[in-house]
Amino acid sequence: MGGKSEKVAKYNEDLRAEVETTTQQAPRATVHASEWRKIMNGDPVEINPSIGEGQKIMTFEEWSRGWKRNDDFPDCARCGGTRTKEHHFVQVWCRGKKKWESETFCLECHTFTWRSYCDPDFQTPEDAEKARWEALVRGEPGEAAA
Ligand SMILES: [Zn+2]
Repeated sequence: MGGKSEKVAKYNEDLRAEVETTTQQAPRATVHASEWRKIMNGDPVEINPSIGEGQKIMTFEEWSRGWKRNDDFPDCARCGGTRTKEHHFVQVWCRGKKKWESETFCLECHTFTWRSYCDPDFQTPEDAEKARWEALVRGEPGEAAA
């Protein structure tokens, strides 16, 4: 492995806008939000199918065991601790422009840190496709050749 000289674009490099960072006591990402409430209430949650089956009352540590730390953003924005796990990560690239969001959970202070970023001129793939078709309809020759 190695020896590749070309630079691979990364979601957390060449940022041209502020990363929005917030902390909260419950997940901002909708994924896992209902499990989180169950754990807070001491109710059983679904066991990860790769480990077993059925439901179980779990601690935060046990519940988050399958999640990994995001070494690009290892620190908790509330306490600065680095015993964090990422439970939500999405990145969308379109024509070299990017948009991403990440949420990590801190095992020290049980706080969620949300980070999100969007290039100022980012378009979703759907928007870019729509703009291309609208240009076609208008008969713009440059776009029509595509
Ligand atoms: Zn923390």
